[in-house]
Amino acid sequence: MYQGKVDLHLHLDGSLSESVITELLERDGRTMSAEEIRDSICVPDHCTSLVEYLKRFELPTQVLQTEYAMERAAYDLVERLAKQGLVYTEIRFAPQLHTRSGMSQETALKSTINGVRQAQADYPSIRAGLLLCSMIGGDGNEETVRLAKQYIGNGVVGADLAGAEGTVPMETYADLFRGLYREQVPYTLHAGECGDPENVRKAIELGARRVGHGCGAIKSESVMALLARTQTVVEACVISNLQTKAVLDAKDHPIRPFFDRGIAVTVNTDNMSCSDTTLAREHEVIAGAMGFTDAEFIRMDENAINGAFIPEADKKELLKKLA
Ligand SMILES: [Zn+2]
Repeated sequence: MYQGKVDLHLHLDGSLSESVITELLERDGRTMSAEEIRDSICVPDHCTSLVEYLKRFELPTQVLQTEYAMERAAYDLVERLAKQGLVYTEIRFAPQLHTRSGMSQETALKSTINGVRQAQADYPSIRAGLLLCSMIGGDGNEETVRLAKQYIGNGVVGADLAGAEGTVPMETYADLFRGLYREQVPYTLHAGECGDPENVRKAIELGARRVGHGCGAIKSESVMALLARTQTVVEACVISNLQTKAVLDAKDHPIRPFFDRGIAVTVNTDNMSCSDTTLAREHEVIAGAMGFTDAEFIRMDENAINGAFIPEADKKELLKKLA
């Protein structure tokens, strides 16, 4: 079975390996058993909402507060993805979450870029870019957007808006993202994760080339038509959506109706550790619940490459690596 080679939607902090967390804790003079780490970061079966899901990020955030930690985490993630056979990924993180111990957003970013670059040098089979997340309700967003503009094409490929969708209206961030649009920094926005189709419409109106999750669009024919017409890429994260109860049963996930309507939908992991998943596991669950064929999975990887924030010539090279 085709297991996927492109992941456009995965968060660095939600994808830390247990071994890296253990190492970073030890450097900080702390110890936790593997079981304690798993209990802290893995989303429990009884998770009922996105807000509860986001609590699993506390330990990863605690350990990601130094230059060494950012570099180590980024290297380790790209290394694991290369070993899983991925050819392209866009890893996202919010630099403002890594300033608790006084590190600047820019230092956090530079360290992360270093880690990605070193891993790519060691594993040339994969290419990776970074997306800088502004946070819903965050107070460092202006600086994050400034860094996205400064580092675009130099380790950073685009931007994102993440956090607890719905707690602050998306319009609040309109000026921020219009500024990125003017500077030709591409972005994806988490939208429709919690079921609101209008947020998906707003994201497209705000110039997003992609939307994270997009589940809520299933409730609106006009929003689905808009997604298909504009070929806005939808970054589906099925296992994560089951855990946050955005979708209650895999067979009801909108990835199938989106695909059948010609929407450029893609398969992604969101958070490999918190959601205990891999791209291969996502494919297994989707194939089992909704009967996607290998040809359809490859089509979704093509959608992902076409929606990647890289030059057209680079997309052509990557498309050759899918079959
Ligand atoms: Zn996400």
